[in-house]
Amino acid sequence: MKATAIRSYFYSCLRAGTSGTGSRSLVCWKCSSPISERPGVFCPSCKVIQPLRANQNFFDYFGLNKDFIVDQEGLKNKFRTLQSVVHPDKFGLHTDDEKKYADIHSSFANQAYKTLSNPKTRAVYMLELSNTDEGITDPEFAMEMLEMNEEIEQTDDHKVLGEKLVMTQGKVDEFMDQIAKNFEQGKNEEARDALNRMRYFERTVKLIKKKLGH
Ligand SMILES: [Zn+2]
Repeated sequence: MKATAIRSYFYSCLRAGTSGTGSRSLVCWKCSSPISERPGVFCPSCKVIQPLRANQNFFDYFGLNKDFIVDQEGLKNKFRTLQSVVHPDKFGLHTDDEKKYADIHSSFANQAYKTLSNPKTRAVYMLELSNTDEGITDPEFAMEMLEMNEEIEQTDDHKVLGEKLVMTQGKVDEFMDQIAKNFEQGKNEEARDALNRMRYFERTVKLIKKKLGH
């Protein structure tokens, strides 16, 4: 699976996860037994691998509460167990569909673990799950970013672009730190604001990289 395809799949899961269909019960594609428990990678009855749920979020996937505080040791164990059961080697003699399901679970588990094991990406993910992208409320900040982007658009000076890249990437890192810290202190509004600002800088980083041909 291409990285972009996986990414868009994750985002569709993310959106579905916030749409309130989370409690819908599913049945096994092979034997039609109900699959109620999460993550429901295998059918409890016929033990056949199941497709990844469309409404799956990373926390549910590892059987965790949607909480900033995560038991890292428990998470690591769950991740390793999951990876071992969906490993491609175990599906050599299975159908193409089953191989595909295993492959998707493996990628999803990787992405979920990577996201949840780091406090910064975990904080950002929690904000994304809560689906409150309200845009920036500080017009002065938005204007500054707009001006900077125009400046970048108009220059081909690699030295200037290189400096801007270092600066904007530093800002993204700074906001990441701030989001995690805000979350830890229960300052959700501040975290959200920092996320919105970080998104602006992320877009600028992308713009500079494009200009530099990265
Ligand atoms: Zn079954």
